Amino acid sequence: MSKRISRRDFLSKLGRVGASLAVLKSMNAMAGSSSACMARTEHTNMALPDGKGQTVIILGAGVAGLAAAVDLTKANYNCVVLELSHRVGGRLFTARRGSRIVQKGLGHGMSEQVCQFDEGIHVELGGGRIPFHHRRVIRRWEELDIPYELYAIDCMMAKFQSDALNGGDPMRVRDLLYSTWGYIAELAASAGGSAELMAKLSTS
Ligand SMILES: Cc1cc2nc3c(=O)[nH]c(=O)nc-3n(C[C@H](O)[C@H](O)[C@H](O)COP(=O)(O)OP(=O)(O)OC[C@H]3O[C@@H](n4cnc5c(N)ncnc54)[C@H](O)[C@@H]3O)c2cc1C
Repeated sequence: MSKRISRRDFLSKLGRVGASLAVLKSMNAMAGSSSACMARTEHTNMALPDGKGQTVIILGAGVAGLAAAVDLTKANYNCVVLELSHRVGGRLFTARRGSRIVQKGLGHGMSEQVCQFDEGIHVELGGGRIPFHHRRVIRRWEELDIPYELYAIDCMMAKFQSDALNGGDPMRVRDLLYSTWGYIAELAASAGGSAELMAKLSTS
């Protein structure tokens, strides 16, 4: 006889027998992050029944609460979002001139700072990077027409382009890196002596 099991239940049972790595790998496969998601272009949308004007209370104005409010509002629910702190965003927090940063620490109790940056300068104090495989978040951003900013970060999937390389076609950083390592290893293996090896290496 088959028995239905919820995703959460499945993951917690898996954690007991397979430890955290098994859970992480399964979550990736289920949620569609990492390589499994890279091939995926379609996203599942939760089908919501018509709310017919019913009121829903959402606790927390983090990105999850706000996304829920957007979806539920579209499905004709009235949403009331209750937020505990003095601002929306939760663990997403862009600090600009005038932003209040209230923190509770074990050592120093409550502290409050007011950001003194010049106008136009900001910093992401919480989540700021949207990895390329967070496709649902990217879709949401595009739906809401929120502008992106370049986030300079080391990423193996980023593309590198030089007219002098690969016939001018862009290459993934990882392909470039591993090819370079392979080339250097081949040179070192075939050189036979250090003087010969040095002669083959350019100074640039
Ligand atoms: C420093 C930092 C860097 C990060 N960097 C990245 C990144 O680069 N990329 C990435 O994808 N993710 C990143 N993350 C993770 C990402 O920010 C979080 O996963 C995401 O913001 C969580 O959103 P959430 O809505 O689930 O929860 P939260 O953002 O935690 O929102 C929960 C909200 O509920 C409120 N709340 C709690 N209890 C109650 C209550 N009883 N009643 C009413 N309100 C309540 C809280 O005040 C809060 O506003 C980072 C997180 C941190 C802290």
